[in-house]
Amino acid sequence: MSNETPLMKQYREIKEENRDSILFFRLGDFYEMFFDDAVIASKELGITLTSRNKEKGQNVPLAGIPYHSSASYMAKLVRKGYKVAVCEQVEDPKTAKGIVKREVVKVITPGTVIDTDYLDDKSNNYLLCVYIKGDRAGIAYVDITTGEFKTTELEGDDIISKALNEVHKISPNEIIVEEKSYENYADKFKNYAAISELTMQKVSFVKNSEEILKDYFRVISLDSYGLQGKKEAVAAGAMALEYILELQKCNELPINKISYENSEEHMELNLTTQKNLELIHNQREKSNLGTLLWVLDSCKTSMGTRMLKSYIKNPLLKVEEIEKRQEDIGYFIDEVLIREEIREILKNIYDIERLIGKVIMGTENGRDLIALKKSIRGALEILKILGNRQLFDSDLEKLIEVYNLIEKSINEEPPFSVREGGMIKGGYNSELDDLHDISKSGKNYILDIETREREKTGIKNLKVKYNKVFGYFIEVTRANSALVPEEYIRKQTLTNAERYITPELKDYESKVLNAKEKIEALEYQIFKDISSEIKEENRVFQELAQNLAYLDVVTSLSDVAIKNNYVKPEVFEGFSMEIKGGRHPIVEKLVGPGEFVKNDILLDDDKSIIILTGPNMAGKSTYMKQLALIILMAQIGSYVPAEFAKIGIVDKIFTRVGASDDLVSGQSTFMVEMSEVANIVNNATEKSFVILDEVGRGTSTFDGISIASSITEYIHDKIGSKTVFATHYHELTELEGKLEKAENYRIEVKETENDVVFLREIVKGGADKSYGIEVARLAGLPREILNKSKATLKSLEAKRALIEKKMKGEQLSLFGGVIEAEEIPLEEEKRVLTLEEEKAIEIICDTDLNSLTPLDALVKLSELKKMLK
Ligand code: ADP
Ligand code: MG
Repeated sequence: MSNETPLMKQYREIKEENRDSILFFRLGDFYEMFFDDAVIASKELGITLTSRNKEKGQNVPLAGIPYHSSASYMAKLVRKGYKVAVCEQVEDPKTAKGIVKREVVKVITPGTVIDTDYLDDKSNNYLLCVYIKGDRAGIAYVDITTGEFKTTELEGDDIISKALNEVHKISPNEIIVEEKSYENYADKFKNYAAISELTMQKVSFVKNSEEILKDYFRVISLDSYGLQGKKEAVAAGAMALEYILELQKCNELPINKISYENSEEHMELNLTTQKNLELIHNQREKSNLGTLLWVLDSCKTSMGTRMLKSYIKNPLLKVEEIEKRQEDIGYFIDEVLIREEIREILKNIYDIERLIGKVIMGTENGRDLIALKKSIRGALEILKILGNRQLFDSDLEKLIEVYNLIEKSINEEPPFSVREGGMIKGGYNSELDDLHDISKSGKNYILDIETREREKTGIKNLKVKYNKVFGYFIEVTRANSALVPEEYIRKQTLTNAERYITPELKDYESKVLNAKEKIEALEYQIFKDISSEIKEENRVFQELAQNLAYLDVVTSLSDVAIKNNYVKPEVFEGFSMEIKGGRHPIVEKLVGPGEFVKNDILLDDDKSIIILTGPNMAGKSTYMKQLALIILMAQIGSYVPAEFAKIGIVDKIFTRVGASDDLVSGQSTFMVEMSEVANIVNNATEKSFVILDEVGRGTSTFDGISIASSITEYIHDKIGSKTVFATHYHELTELEGKLEKAENYRIEVKETENDVVFLREIVKGGADKSYGIEVARLAGLPREILNKSKATLKSLEAKRALIEKKMKGEQLSLFGGVIEAEEIPLEEEKRVLTLEEEKAIEIICDTDLNSLTPLDALVKLSELKKMLK
C-alpha cells in the first residue's frame, strides 16, 4: 500500500476499528463510503456507485450522500439491520495542519437510534439485554430516546421460554446477549429474532456490573432502585449500559434512573397467548388493525399510546391497583366536560419524553423548545381544570420557570437549523441586540449609499446590489459608465452593465457580514445555554410526561368505555367469574352495530370447566377469546364489553388454538400443538384461565378425541384452572358425566331441512352432531358431494352403532357413557360392506371437512367414485 494517499490511510485505520459497521466517512459536505460499504450502501439505498482511481492501480468503489440529508439514509440502513458508524471531522479544516483529524463519534444500531424523526412515535425503541444463568434470567431494556431503563428477573424450569415471553411483551428492536451463555439458548432466540425481524448482537460479560451502574448513576448503592440482590438484573443492566455508552461515545444520555420491575406483579401471558389474543399486532400483518390496542387506543398523545401498550401487555394482579385505575376512569366517565376539555388540550401536547431526551442528547432545535413550551402550557391548563382532583403532583414552579424562559427567549417560529440564527427573540440578550443593530444600521447605511451616490454622480438608475460572489456592489448601466467617478473600482463587466465596488461599501459590508457571523455564533451559544438550563430540570419533565401519559390513558379508556357501552367489572381476589351479556371487543366492532350476539358465562367452585361444542363457524373461538379479553381488560383496569362482570383475579391466561386455525401450517403442527399443551399443563395454576380451542385436531379423529379428553381430565383433577374447551367433536360432551366440575354448553344453531342458521347463542347441553356437512354446504361445496357425504355419514353412523351393539351385547360408548342409538333398519344390518366400501368410508371419516377446499373435495370425490365402481 505504498501508493496510499494520506486520506485513504486514515480511512483504512478507522475502518479497521469499525469492521462490523458501515462507515459514513465525512468529507466536507458529504459522507462517503468506500469499498464494500459503498457496494452495500448503493444496493440498499439505491444511490450511485462510482469509483475513485486516485489509488494508482486500484479501483476504489465509492458512494456518497450529502451531509444534510444523511439522517434518513442512516435510518434506512439501520432499519435493515446494519450498524452505522458515523465518522466526523473533529477539527476545523481551516486551521488543521495536514490532513483533517477524523473520529467515529457514534455508532447507530436499531436499538440505539436517537434521531426520533425516523422512529415510530407510538412505540418505544427498546434495546434489550438478556442474561440467562442456570434457571434464572436477568432482562434489562432501555429506550435512549425517552430515558426509560428497566430491569426484571425471572426464574423457573423453562427459563428460556419464560424469557422469550417477557421479551415479546417488551418488543425490543434489538437484543444483546451475553456471548458465553448464549450457546445454551441460541436456537430459540435466533428463531425468535428471525421471526420478529430483530437484530441480535453478542456482547461480553461485564464483570464489575454493580460498580458500573453505581458509577453511572452516581449512587453509593443500588438498593434505592430495588436492585438489591438482583444479580442477573444488575448484570443485564450493566451490559446494556456499557453497550450503549460504547456506541454513543460518551454522548450524554437521558437515562437518569434504573428500576426493577417485578414480573410477578403482572399477569403472565406466554408468547403464543400474546399472539393468539392479538393484543398489539394482528396475526396477518404487522399493523394493529383488529387488535385490542386498536379498540382501546383513543389516546391523544404518543406518550399515552406507548403507556397503553405496556398496560395491555402487563395486566395487574392487585385488586387495589386495578381499582385505582377504575376509579380514575370512572371519574372521567362522569365528568364529561372535564374529560372533553382535557382531551382537547392533550391534542396540543407534544412528546415531552422524547423532547427532553433530545435536549439531553443535544440534538434539540428551536422548534423542539417551542413544542416543549406549548406542552407546558397545556399541562398547566390541565392542572387548572383538574382543580382539586389532583391525579398527580407537578413541580409547578419549575414548569412555569421553564415556560417563561422559553417564552422570553425563543422566537415563535424558529428555523430548523440551530446554526443560522433567527431563533432568539429581541430583548433577551443585549449583546445580540447590539449586533442586530449594527447589522441593521449597516444595511440601512448601504441602502443610503444608493441614494447618495445617485445624487453625487447623477446616474439615475445606479443600484446597490448583493450577490454571494462579490457581496455588495454598485451596478451602473453601460450607457452611464462614462459618469462613473474615479474612486469606483470595476469588478465585473456584463453585456449591459458594469459592476463596481467602493472602499466605503466594502467597509460597511464587512461590518454587516461580521455581525451576521457573530449573531449566528452568539445565538447558538445562547440557545445552548437555555437548553442546558432546561436540561437541569429533566426529571421534572420526565415525571410530567409519565403523568400526562397516564392521564391520556385513563381519559382515553373512559372515552372508549362510553362509546362502546362498557361496564365497570367487579374484580376480587377469588376464583369465580361471572359475565352477563358479554361481547367480543374486537369482533363486535367488525360485525357492525347491533349484530353481535351477547353471551354469558359463570364459572365457580362447582363448575370450572366448560366443554363447548357447536359446528364450525358457530362462534366457539370468538366466545372463548372474548372471555380471555374481558378478563385481560378488567385486569388492566379498563371497563369491559358486557352488561355485568365479576371477575376473580387471574394469574395467567393460556390459549391453545387448534391446528386448522393456525396460520403457519405444514411441518409438524401436531408436535407444536402438543408442546404448547405441555406448556399449559406444566405452568397453569388454579388461578389461571385456560382456553383450549380444538385441541387434538392435528391428528386423526380418535387420537384427537382421546388426547383432548385426557388433557381436560388432567386439568380438572390436577390443576383446577378455569377452562373452556371448544371442540367440534361432539363425542367430548360425554366428559360431563365423568368430570364433576365440567359442564356442557353448545352454541345454538337452527336446523331447517337442508340448512343451518347460526344463532350464536350459548346454551346448556352438548351438541349431538358436528354439522360438518351443513357447514360445508354453506361454504359452497357442490351438492353432489354433499349428498354423497350425507349418505356415507348415515351408513357410517349406522355401522358404528352396529359395532357397538355387537361388541359386548350392550351399548358402550367411547367413554363408558350410554348412547341412545336409534334402531337400525334390518336391511342395513344385513348388508355386508365390500372392502372398497369400507375403505371409502374410512377416507370420508378421516377427511377434515373444515379444512377442505372445494377443489380438494372434488378430487376426493372422484377418487371415491372410482373406488366404488
Ligand atoms: P368457530 O370457532 O366456532 O368455528 P368462530 O368463533 O371462528 O367460529 O366464528 C366465526 C365467525 O362468526 C366470526 O368470525 C364472527 O364473524 C362470527 N361470530 C362469532 N360469534 C359471534 C357473535 N356472538 N355474534 C355475531 N357474530 C359472531
Ligand atoms: Mg374456531
